[in-house]
Amino acid sequence: MKDDIARLAAETEGRLVARRRDLHRYPETAWTEFRTASLVAGALAAAGYEVRLGGEAVRRESMLGVPPAGELEAHMERAAGQGGDPSLIGRMAGGLTGVVGELKCGEGPVVALRFDMDANDMDEARDDAHRPHREGFGSVNPGAMHACGHDGHVAIGLGVAEVLAAIRDRLKGTVRLIFQPGEEGVRGAGPMVDAGALDGVDYLLGGHIGFQARKTGQLVCGTDKFLATTKFDVHFTGVPAHAGAAPEQGRNALLTAACAALNLHAIPRHGQGGSRITVGILNAGQGRNIIPPNALLKAESRGETTEINDYVYSCARDVVAGAARMYGVDYSITEAGRSVSGGSDPGLAARVRRIAEGMPFFRPSWIVDSVDLRGSEDFAVMLAEVRRQGGAGTYVMIGSDLASGHHSFHFDFDERSLVPGVELFVRCVLDCMALPTRVRG
Ligand SMILES: [Zn+2]
Repeated sequence: MKDDIARLAAETEGRLVARRRDLHRYPETAWTEFRTASLVAGALAAAGYEVRLGGEAVRRESMLGVPPAGELEAHMERAAGQGGDPSLIGRMAGGLTGVVGELKCGEGPVVALRFDMDANDMDEARDDAHRPHREGFGSVNPGAMHACGHDGHVAIGLGVAEVLAAIRDRLKGTVRLIFQPGEEGVRGAGPMVDAGALDGVDYLLGGHIGFQARKTGQLVCGTDKFLATTKFDVHFTGVPAHAGAAPEQGRNALLTAACAALNLHAIPRHGQGGSRITVGILNAGQGRNIIPPNALLKAESRGETTEINDYVYSCARDVVAGAARMYGVDYSITEAGRSVSGGSDPGLAARVRRIAEGMPFFRPSWIVDSVDLRGSEDFAVMLAEVRRQGGAGTYVMIGSDLASGHHSFHFDFDERSLVPGVELFVRCVLDCMALPTRVRG
């Protein structure tokens, strides 16, 4: 049975690479993954999965950081023009671009795998040193690039779907494949959890190509210390006035935002663990001789625990309110993304290790039990939900030689890591199905 799975995974290689390159060429950013999601839904249905999408997979009311309606419509049109399935795209109006595929194979645990689908907001390098450009699969969508490897994640996810479907008579339980939009900005997981995508899940696996496993043949079996985070935008609205004749009649939104920015960075650190606050964007003002009536500040808080992040974010709201009061300026705060803290289940990570040790692709001395993420990933929201129900989850990192760091416009990974990714996840599903159920449905 072991060799059989290795063979089935190896047979997907051509399709995996072709799919990865196709997705790389047509990247879509958070909540605009219409083409990607429609291809995923089509492939899952063709492989015999029950498919949920649109409002069945994403709770509209929970969505944060959604692009304006006009932009979403333009992206739907583009997706159809680039080979997406128009009838499926139509069901995702409003940015409901999550997909869940389920294969029910009798009694047994529910094992879920999560794959994120979105690209980054950036232009891809167009020079011959960059392989995607050189080999003709560089992004054709301005302002969007798969610079994190999620194109590879989707390709692996569909490879897993096909291999599992091929061996479905050996499965005992339910496989649920979750294709998530909007990981960048930590936006997509919460609305899928709220739509019930994780209901009844006994075992959850997710992962990333590269990240802290930057060599082909490495594997991290469990990831810990996901930082909780809140992304938020503050709009300050003041009153414009003549800077020479009547400055006292103005209400200065630029100074308000500057005051807030300085004091946000002065929030006291927390004694129980690490915290962060960053103002990443501050735009203000309209003209040199006009008291600035507008300012936009984009910031994020983070914490080693959800409580610490809540503390930082709550202080941040006070700082913004205080600055606005001092300058007599109105403000509004909009949350643009959110994730919680968390870590992997060591028992499940140990099972991943044992499986990987049986795969020649992974160098035994390069298999690592756990690393600290020291960043945020909204997979933590799914982990927390599964744990709340009594289940267990882990987040793996599949090593890959990287041409450049994640989120760099020269990012590219080693496609030799795709097939082992499929094989590893398929074996993990089989392994988990031999375990007892943990969650009472
Ligand atoms: Zn990523």
